[in-house]
Amino acid sequence: MQDHSVKGAKAVISREALQELMEVLAAGNYRVLGPKVRDGAIVYDEIAQAQDLPAGWTDRQEAGRYHLERREDEALFGFAVGPQSWKQFLHPPIETLWTARQGDDCISITTGRPETPRFAFIGVRACELHAIAIQDRVFLDGPYRDVAYGMRRQDAFIVAVNCGEAGGTCFCASMGTGPKADGGFDLALTELIDAARHEFLVEVGSEAGGDLLDWLPHRFASSADLLAAEAVIARTQNAMGRKLETDGLKELLQGNLTHPRWDEVAERCLACGNCTSVCPTCFCTTVEDHSDLMGSSAERIRKWDSCFTMDFSYIHGGSVRKTGSSRYRQWMTHKLASWIDQFGTSGCVGCGRCITWCPVGIDITAEAAAIRATPQATKGEPHGGT
Ligand code: SF4
Ligand code: SF4
Repeated sequence: MQDHSVKGAKAVISREALQELMEVLAAGNYRVLGPKVRDGAIVYDEIAQAQDLPAGWTDRQEAGRYHLERREDEALFGFAVGPQSWKQFLHPPIETLWTARQGDDCISITTGRPETPRFAFIGVRACELHAIAIQDRVFLDGPYRDVAYGMRRQDAFIVAVNCGEAGGTCFCASMGTGPKADGGFDLALTELIDAARHEFLVEVGSEAGGDLLDWLPHRFASSADLLAAEAVIARTQNAMGRKLETDGLKELLQGNLTHPRWDEVAERCLACGNCTSVCPTCFCTTVEDHSDLMGSSAERIRKWDSCFTMDFSYIHGGSVRKTGSSRYRQWMTHKLASWIDQFGTSGCVGCGRCITWCPVGIDITAEAAAIRATPQATKGEPHGGT
C-alpha cells in the first residue's frame, strides 16, 4: 500500500470519489464550500454534493466582460476564477467588533464573536493559494495579529485544483503564481478528462490531506497519469489571456509617479471600487459606529473599504487623494510596487478579476505596459496626488 503521509504523494481518484471526499469533510464538521453556478456566474458557496459543482460549464472573460458557456464535456472545474474569492470567508466583508447595550444602571459591552466554522474550500486555484498566503502575511505576521482571521484560517482544509482552463484575463504565469498549485494546500487535484475517462490526479500537501486520501477509493498514479496531468497544466500555461512584464516594474512605477498615463486612466475610471472588492489580496477596511434610534444599543463594525473612495484617505480637513488619477495610481503602485516594500511580495497574483469586473474594462497589465512603453523617469512628489 502506498504511504500517503508523505507530502507530494500522488494517487488517482474517480469522479465519484469526489462525493465521498465531500462527505468525509462534512462528517468531520467542516463547512464545505466550492464553486457553483448562480446568477449567471460561478461563485463560491455551500456545496452539499459533487452534483452542485459546475459540471460542463466554462467561462469567457475579457476586460469588462464575463459570461458562461456550455463545454463539450462534463468537466467539473473547466473554468477560471469567478467574481468572488475565498477572501469573503476568511476576511468577511462586514464583521461586528463590539456591541454596547444600555441597561437600567449600566452599559454592557460585548466583543464580537466571530463565526469560526471549520472551512473546507474545494477548488482553490494556484493564484488563490498565493492570495491566501499574502493575506496570512498581512493579518497574521505583523505586529498586530488579527485574531478573528487567525481563528478562521487555522482549521481551513484546502482542496486545490490545478487549472485546466486559463481565463481571458488570467496572467498568473507572469506572476509566478500558477497555473500549478505549488504549496499551501492539503490536497491538490488535476482533472483528467477525455472520451475514455473522468478522473483526478490527487497530490498530497499535508498530513491531514494524506489522512483524507486514505478514506477515499483510489488507485496508484501511473507515469501516464502524471504525464497527462503535466500536459493539462502546460496547456493552461500556454493559453494565458494576459501577460505582465514584472522585470523592474516596482522601480518603473515608483519612478513614474507624475506620468501622464495616470490622468489618462482617470478619465476612464469610475472610482467604483469593483477592482478592490474582487481582488483576493486587497484587505483594507473601515470602521463604522451604528446606534439604534432609541439610543439603547450601539455597535462598531468593520467592513471592506476601497482606496478608490474619497473618504478612504480622509483625515482632518479633507482627503489626501482627491483626484481619480491619484487614487488609481495609489491602488496600482501599492499592488505592484510598494506592497513589495511592505510585505516582501507583489500584491497581485495575476487572477485577472480586476480586469474582468471593471465596468469600463481598465486592464492593470495594459496600464503597466503603457507606462513601460513611455517611461518619464521622474521621481519626487506626484502631481494631483493631494
Ligand atoms: S490586482 Fe487584479 S489581477 Fe492582481 S490579484 Fe488583484 S484582482 Fe487579481
Ligand atoms: S479601475 Fe475599473 S473597477 Fe477599478 S475603480 Fe476604476 S472603474 Fe472601478
